[in-house]
Amino acid sequence: MIESVKGMRDILPQEEGYWDLLEATVKNIAISFGFSRIRTPILEKTDLFVRSVGKQTDIVQKEMYSLKTEGGDALTLRPEMTAPVMRAYIENGMKAQIQPVKLYYIEPCFRHERPQQLRYRQFYQIGFEEIGLGGSAVDTELILIAHYFLSKIGLDNYEFQVNTLGDENCREGYVLLLSEYLKSNRRSLCEVCNNRVTKRPLSAFDCKEEKCQRITRMAPKIIDSLCEPCRTDFKEVLELLDEVQVPYALNPFVVRGLEYYSRTVYEIWTSRDGELDSQVSLGGGGRYDGLAELMGGEHTPGSGFALGVERMEEALKEKGIKINKHSSGVVFLAQLGFQAKKRAMRLLSELLLEGVRVRSSFARNSLSSQLRVADKLEAEYAIIIGEKELYDRSIILRDMKTGNQETLEMKDLVPELKNRLNIL
Ligand code: AMP
Repeated sequence: MIESVKGMRDILPQEEGYWDLLEATVKNIAISFGFSRIRTPILEKTDLFVRSVGKQTDIVQKEMYSLKTEGGDALTLRPEMTAPVMRAYIENGMKAQIQPVKLYYIEPCFRHERPQQLRYRQFYQIGFEEIGLGGSAVDTELILIAHYFLSKIGLDNYEFQVNTLGDENCREGYVLLLSEYLKSNRRSLCEVCNNRVTKRPLSAFDCKEEKCQRITRMAPKIIDSLCEPCRTDFKEVLELLDEVQVPYALNPFVVRGLEYYSRTVYEIWTSRDGELDSQVSLGGGGRYDGLAELMGGEHTPGSGFALGVERMEEALKEKGIKINKHSSGVVFLAQLGFQAKKRAMRLLSELLLEGVRVRSSFARNSLSSQLRVADKLEAEYAIIIGEKELYDRSIILRDMKTGNQETLEMKDLVPELKNRLNIL
């Protein structure tokens, strides 16, 4: 039997309620804050990611699904959305609109990572980007939107881990300092970090090996190497965050795995039993004022974040938030005997016209097997019609939770159900 591609998964009907909740929340927030949806192609030119995400990053070195067309074009299934969105902004002349242009997306991305719990090779991101006008207030507004989004869907066990990466004036000096420090501790670092020492020392902070973490915890911190404008900028971000009361902590070890970031960066970590989980972040983001130039465009400030849909779904489930949109307000229509089946068929269309969510199993004849189905479907009520009810022009209404049954006149059924189920 042919199976699905490793690391890729089907999103099944029982997950639909969670996805609907996330999509509806994004759309509401987008309307409230003035963001418009953008959809970009799944395939982009490979160069877009090599130049923006960075040649030395894990994403570009190991994780991209790249292909060559017969015509010789090098293309890649997008591993992230920020670079495509910036490309679209430039290519479609959005600079002519009121700045910043506020865009959001709900899209699949692809990374050939080692499959693990909540780490897939195709995963979905919900993201918000503001392009064209930057600064500390824009970063804070975006963090506030991410916080608002997560609260709206019902999560509260998360914290923003905030850091700054400085800019082109001060980062280089810091990276050199870090590189020297790591070189002097080379013997205590793993092989991967040894390779990182000169090429991409910042990424040593992402190493999960304990011996490397012991070294990086003691490394010089960027905060001590910031130039004056970057220091002021970061101070503003933090002051604004205090103002809007977002749960955050300063974390000098959050550097993000993509090279286009500058100044403010953050990840959103969940906590379980008071312990923060740094392995599977809910989301991440930051400012990318230099991204457009890396792609060959003119200087264009930008800031944004992306949240992982699968990870939010899991966080909702872990919190015990159950969403089964197919069972709420559902009524099961059961019948006994052929004449009753005929009447039930008519009643089915009457109920549907009135907006009642009706389920039935006309292929089953026994009442007990029909009620078993009603139970499985988590119906709130069952309507039962047999020969006697047909004769009396009545029905039996069974509360599926309590098992209580009452007899109603057929003519009262629709208004009674609409009243009980809050159907307008
Ligand atoms: P990143 O920009 O790599 O930090 O990704 C932003 C968010 O996307 C992460 O915080 C995750 O929620 C989600 N994400 C990234 N990679 C994966 C993956 N392989 N599987 C599932 N979700 C992912």
